[in-house]
Amino acid sequence: MKFGNVKIEAIQGDITNQNDITAIVNAANAQLQMGGGVAGAIHTAAGKELAEETKFLAPINPGQAVITGAYKLPNKYIIHTLGPVYGFNQPEETFLRKCYKNSLALAEENNIDSIAFPAISTGAFGYPFEQATEIAFSSVLDFTNEAKSVKLIRFVLFSEKDFQYYQKKLNSIK
Ligand code: ADP
Repeated sequence: MKFGNVKIEAIQGDITNQNDITAIVNAANAQLQMGGGVAGAIHTAAGKELAEETKFLAPINPGQAVITGAYKLPNKYIIHTLGPVYGFNQPEETFLRKCYKNSLALAEENNIDSIAFPAISTGAFGYPFEQATEIAFSSVLDFTNEAKSVKLIRFVLFSEKDFQYYQKKLNSIK
């Protein structure tokens, strides 16, 4: 789906397996360490050098984003962002929006052409999936008006059900 000069797409898959994407986004923890879910998968696939770099950048605050190399991953960069814990970092919507906005701003600053997002905060952090999806779409769509280097935004959904939901949402936009 094309919005201005930006293509937005949704796929079912693993964020560590996006060979054609310049920067993948990590749904990180404040300490930028391994953890479970997306962060665990990314640190495992990237190798221990990643934690060596991130330890100098941690801790980060909800909504903040930082960029590192991608080491053994097929990408050039990893953008680490800390999603809100649902029911704790309030208003959650503001923090989640910042995650998308700040990640995309970092992508622009680094002249990145393609970026892949997982469904930030919808795992361990407990954000209701449908509400989080609304924020993900509206943040990314707002950004398309100001995009320069970014030409492709890919949402990577782990489960078939989550993917179907994004796909339906994407098809309903235009
Ligand atoms: P958070 O702590 O921000 O909630 P999680 O990593 O626990 O982050 O989960 C965020 C979302 O990413 C969940 O919807 C989860 O199903 C999904 N997910 C988990 N592992 C992967 C992966 N390897 N690739 C893509 N998405 C993943």
